[in-house]
Amino acid sequence: MIELQHVTKRYSNGHKALDHVNFHLASGDFAFLTGHSGAGKSTLLKLIAGLEPVTEGRIRVANMQLNDLSQRRMPYLRRKIGIILQSPNLLMDRHVFDNVALPLIVSGGYNYKEISSRVRAVLAKVSLTNKENFYPYELSGGEQQRISIARAIVNKPELLVADEPTGNLDPDLAAEIMFLFEQFNQLGMTVLIASHDLGLIKNFKHQQFTLVGGKLLHAQGTADKISTFVE
Ligand code: ADP
Repeated sequence: MIELQHVTKRYSNGHKALDHVNFHLASGDFAFLTGHSGAGKSTLLKLIAGLEPVTEGRIRVANMQLNDLSQRRMPYLRRKIGIILQSPNLLMDRHVFDNVALPLIVSGGYNYKEISSRVRAVLAKVSLTNKENFYPYELSGGEQQRISIARAIVNKPELLVADEPTGNLDPDLAAEIMFLFEQFNQLGMTVLIASHDLGLIKNFKHQQFTLVGGKLLHAQGTADKISTFVE
């Protein structure tokens, strides 16, 4: 599902955020990406989502080579990936319902009845059923984050990439959202979650990758039993 070969990312100011990263995630996998602030987690997710160009190396996601992906082909990639960024990036002048419906409207092919039943189902899953007619600015930070989670999964993407998706949530809700991601994973969705919340992720037996200063290390074993890291 995701294949990075010797990927380096240098921003326009010359800062090297990723350094020769090799990374592979098979279809149906569930993995955590950990690392201190500034280690390169968001950068790696943005590259995978096609939101930032690669400087060097090859990157392939959902059977699409991103290095030479044209703007015309970008919507095909978008349809396959659900993205949860740290800042929810919601449309403030649209109700919650419209924000969550957006990916279905953009990809087309759904009638209003299908859209409303899918939107209501995901809003129920993130415990926001009663907020569909609110504007995002009328919600708390944690509620806005859950709207962005609902928006990312409403289209049943093949791949979900999430950047600190539980960062603004209290521990119970954070665990619930993780269980929700697991349910989607069991239905076949590949999941990659960046999080520095080691206390939370140790409860989930999934593989763990760690970024240190832009270099990727892969843990031997699952998140609850890490022994050594290998590059
Ligand atoms: P993390 O998500 O692990 O906190 P980031 O990927 O956000 O790390 O950042 C990795 C490094 O790249 C940091 O040193 C950060 O300052 C730098 N960086 C991130 N975005 C940009 C940008 N747009 N321009 C220049 N440097 C950036």
